Amino acid sequence: MEKIIFVDRDGVINVDLIGDYIKHPDEFRFEPGAVQALHMFRDGGYKIVIISNQAGVGDGIFTEAAMWKVHRHMESLLKKEGLAAWKTYYCLHGKEAGCGCRKPETGLFEQAARDFTFDRKTTFFIGDKASDTNAGKRFGLKTAFVRTGHGANEEKLLDPKNPPEIKAANLLEAARQILTRISHHQ
Ligand SMILES: [Mg+2]
Ligand SMILES: [Zn+2]
Repeated sequence: MEKIIFVDRDGVINVDLIGDYIKHPDEFRFEPGAVQALHMFRDGGYKIVIISNQAGVGDGIFTEAAMWKVHRHMESLLKKEGLAAWKTYYCLHGKEAGCGCRKPETGLFEQAARDFTFDRKTTFFIGDKASDTNAGKRFGLKTAFVRTGHGANEEKLLDPKNPPEIKAANLLEAARQILTRISHHQ
């Protein structure tokens, strides 16, 4: 089994331009504490895997080339910090395309399950939207919800019958809670 931590990108790792997409590398800014959180996971032996909807590509708001340019910029910033995402899975389909990979659908996680070996019951997905926690839950993962990005507005949309295991102010606080919880369960 591999130790994997699944993380949403916009609003969790980097600042979400609420109502817009990250269309250019200059628009990519880490959320405060996010780099430290990723270091904590890395130091704990976790492989960081990013799961991100980028419907702006499918909806024609920005090009796929621009999306990959932002992606490569993120990778270079992570590398400068001594970090890396083992893999990033993007859904590039439009919001109304009806694809199977746009969260809350689980297609991106199904792709990850072909590339990595992990125990769904002990693996966390961290996101800032109800569609993140719903996708993670549908796939059988533990979930953590953060109040950065869309989180402030999305908390009321969380499914009360199937809530995230963890709610946190941001990725750093989520990392602390997840790593504490896992160490207590071992
Ligand atoms: Mg997000
Ligand atoms: Zn898709």
